Amino acid sequence: MFGIARAALVNMLDMVAPVRCAMCGHSGAHLCEGCCTRYERGSLLMRPASPRAPCVYALGAHDGYLRKAILAIKYRNRVDTAYALGVVLGRKLPGLFEAVVPVPLHRQRYRVRGCNQAEVIARGVVSTGCARLIADALERRKATLSQSSLHLHGRERNVREAFSIGARAMQVQGLRVLIIDDVVTTGATIAACTAVLCSAGINVVGAAALALRR
Ligand SMILES: [Zn+2]
Repeated sequence: MFGIARAALVNMLDMVAPVRCAMCGHSGAHLCEGCCTRYERGSLLMRPASPRAPCVYALGAHDGYLRKAILAIKYRNRVDTAYALGVVLGRKLPGLFEAVVPVPLHRQRYRVRGCNQAEVIARGVVSTGCARLIADALERRKATLSQSSLHLHGRERNVREAFSIGARAMQVQGLRVLIIDDVVTTGATIAACTAVLCSAGINVVGAAALALRR
């Protein structure tokens, strides 16, 4: 309940305050032209594939302006910023995939937040015409702890059985799939999602996030 009340208050304050860029704070846009251009001109970060997870692409490291924007997306409900950064990401990703699957939120957390930020980022990615969004190919059946509060082994244990095949998984059969999350740290969440999709015969070719955290 506290989460819903807090989100409503933050939304109300944001409605009366002028719109500001979530990165640099300039007024007039959720993501100003200068910040857009900076990430459009920069190279994507790429973490190579491991035995359990595909390669991960990201706009940058989880620091500076990008970290600030991600905190605003998570804690200030900046949906427009998530979408705008998804568009930038979609323009830069190599065209190796045909379907985009966001990492799902558990329904309890979804109710508190009001949206799944990974799905909003994915909507931005597919708006560039690069692939189809299939939002319910995965389901989060366990309300896991926040990954950021855990160490490596704890993260793996936390998400090991958190996901299952979702209602629309059949729609990605035969397609090259890209998994989308907001931030990737150890890759444990991406590995868990990949294992579930692969066990259903789905071809996961990569993952993408706004930021990679070391
Ligand atoms: Zn800016």
